[in-house]
Amino acid sequence: MVQRVKLTGDYESALYSAGGTVQAAEKIHQGEIDNAFVFTSFGDHHVGRNFYGGMCYFNGAALAITSLKEKGVKRFAIVDTDCHHADGTRDIFGNDDDVLHVCLCYQDYVDNHNNVDVKIPYRTSDEEYLARMRQEFVPRVVAFKPDYLFWEFGYDATQGEYGDKGLTKDCHLKLARLVKGVADEVCHGRLITILCGGSSRAIATYTIPRIIGCLAELE
Ligand SMILES: [Zn+2]
Ligand SMILES: [Zn+2]
Repeated sequence: MVQRVKLTGDYESALYSAGGTVQAAEKIHQGEIDNAFVFTSFGDHHVGRNFYGGMCYFNGAALAITSLKEKGVKRFAIVDTDCHHADGTRDIFGNDDDVLHVCLCYQDYVDNHNNVDVKIPYRTSDEEYLARMRQEFVPRVVAFKPDYLFWEFGYDATQGEYGDKGLTKDCHLKLARLVKGVADEVCHGRLITILCGGSSRAIATYTIPRIIGCLAELE
């Protein structure tokens, strides 16, 4: 797989994308930073053990979790608000009971290995989406007590995006406050936010500085 990625022309950017997530985790582990927003060129959640695709080449979250496990960290939660199903991350951690994976996508699914999918209808509202997060994600992550929380922040479900589900761009800031609050409550604020799907520069330039402001407790 690595050899194939080398031939794509995206190899260096793909390495920086995944490496940024690994470095963020290591810096938090060393106490250098409290949390992180990882500016990726390519996403990670469509990368499994033996496949990649969907503009994802390496699974940065999985590599970061593997790196932290090698340092003795035990439990991890991943919440995914990208529009699409995190098939790769699920492939990697599907049988790992030490990883809670809550993915908001197009199906409802729950199993005995801490994997949860939350079906978001074709059209939804900010209020409905946030309500689903409060119902399906918050109680589970509070009960799970992870050491680290990873947030796959995709904005492709925003109005006008390729995965448009009707969310406004302000929904992401509300999500950031919710996710940050949960991380503060359950894992000493150890939160790694990974830029995932989305294509609009206007939405990115509106949301990302505000999310970083929220992570830095400026907003
Ligand atoms: Zn899913
Ligand atoms: Zn997506």
